[in-house]
Amino acid sequence: MPTYEFFCQKCSKPFEVTWSIAEYERKIKAVKCTKCGSRKVAKRISAFQVQTSKKS
Ligand SMILES: [Zn+2]
Repeated sequence: MPTYEFFCQKCSKPFEVTWSIAEYERKIKAVKCTKCGSRKVAKRISAFQVQTSKKS
């Protein structure tokens, strides 16, 4: 699943969330800091970790 990076303006700390695409659509509207619960967060450039290959 992709990882999204945010920056909490209250904590002044970055944090990451791992959401599926469906979760992203739903949660991006009300994203909260995982530490303090503040909604003053800014999205950072996402460092996508997309796993496309399933080698069996
Ligand atoms: Zn915070």
